[in-house]
Amino acid sequence: MNDLSSDKISFTNLIEDVVDQNRCVACGACEAVCPVNVIKLDNFVPTLIGKCIECGICYNNCPRTDFDDKTLEELIHGRTRNEKEALTGIYSGVYAARAIPPDIQERAQDGGVVTALLSQFLDDGGDAVIVAGLDEEHPWLPKPTIARTRDEIVRAAGTKYTPSPTLVGLKKAVKEEKLEKVAVVGTPCQIRGLTRLTYGPMKNIKYKNSVDLKVGLFCMETFNHDSFIDYLRENNVDPAKVTKFEIKKGRFYAHAGEERLHRARLKKVKNLIRSCCAQCDDFSSEYADISVGNVGSPPGYSTVLVRTEKGKKALDSAIKSGLIEAETIESFEKGDTLVHKLAAMKKSSH
Ligand SMILES: Cc1cc2nc3c(=O)[nH]c(=O)nc-3n(C[C@H](O)[C@H](O)[C@H](O)COP(=O)(O)OP(=O)(O)OC[C@H]3O[C@@H](n4cnc5c(N)ncnc54)[C@H](O)[C@@H]3O)c2cc1C
Ligand code: SF4
Ligand code: SF4
Ligand code: SF4
Repeated sequence: MNDLSSDKISFTNLIEDVVDQNRCVACGACEAVCPVNVIKLDNFVPTLIGKCIECGICYNNCPRTDFDDKTLEELIHGRTRNEKEALTGIYSGVYAARAIPPDIQERAQDGGVVTALLSQFLDDGGDAVIVAGLDEEHPWLPKPTIARTRDEIVRAAGTKYTPSPTLVGLKKAVKEEKLEKVAVVGTPCQIRGLTRLTYGPMKNIKYKNSVDLKVGLFCMETFNHDSFIDYLRENNVDPAKVTKFEIKKGRFYAHAGEERLHRARLKKVKNLIRSCCAQCDDFSSEYADISVGNVGSPPGYSTVLVRTEKGKKALDSAIKSGLIEAETIESFEKGDTLVHKLAAMKKSSH
């Protein structure tokens, strides 16, 4: 891997060290940060569309080049993680929580906490949130979307198990539409890219000033989009009819409303997993302001890790507005919950 003290770093280095090594997660950080706008994600692959000035900014903001955890923790929290936080990253509180409004509960993947937090962010003066919406022409193709209303946020609820180049959406919101106060929701790898853009040694000051809340998701894997759609069709599932996908207790499900269209052991879909996920050691979005996932809480609830002051303020505000109810998970401190087990699994397989 290159470092800043060596020769000039170009787009070619990014391709050689990240894309060609199957490490690219398609987060879009490189496209978002290139100062001369010569990177474009083409079908999830960073592509050069103009002359690279060899500034090294894309390389040094990519979450898959050397990621200096300790420096970033110092910059974000003023300390590094302690022994208790080794598997989860730094946190100040852990809750089982759920959204109260029925329309959010109905549409959300789990407890609807993410949707409720983002909705509250707009009520608290945010301009917009960057969510994973869906492409209108291609079923279940995630599309980074700038949501400016509660309805748009609710429409984007639910898990898409294939990648969304979230930070391309951030670029549009901040660089093109000049929005000044945005929230971003993303998988751990996307949140890592975003953390570099906002805290790293080659950070971008526009993003630093505009991103006001980072909501991270738990994540074990994502599927390759094309293989995923082929798999569904081979199993007589019309992707356009699916309203929700779920991975639970070692099984993968596709539902159409109340009807279950497909169920398979997770082993059967393992070959759809993107190769970049095998090289990932972050389960719980360790660099988010607040992280949310389904494991570790009763059905219908989400597990929430509050990590920063901003994360705490966002949760408190949503509770105060009656959007979220939350209860501390006392047993988390013992360090042997499913969250710890899955995080350990990811770190040991890395
Ligand atoms: C690819 C993926 C894998 C996951 N794996 C696990 C796991 O192994 N264990 C676990 O406990 N939890 C996992 N989660 C998190 C879980 O599926 C829920 O997202 C989480 O519990 C929040 O639920 P909610 O009801 O609060 O979310 P909702 O209120 O339904 O909101 C979900 C939000 O996530 C955003 N989103 C959906 N898909 C993506 C995507 N691909 N990229 C970026 N943003 C997206 C949506 O825009 C929406 O705003 C995963 C999520 C994803 C996206
Ligand atoms: S960010 Fe710099 S190194 Fe990367 S492609 Fe753009 S000009 Fe080239
Ligand atoms: S910044 Fe993101 S999209 Fe760009 S090469 Fe790195 S991982 Fe891939
Ligand atoms: S497993 Fe890691 S690399 Fe793969 S989508 Fe999840 S966070 Fe990103």
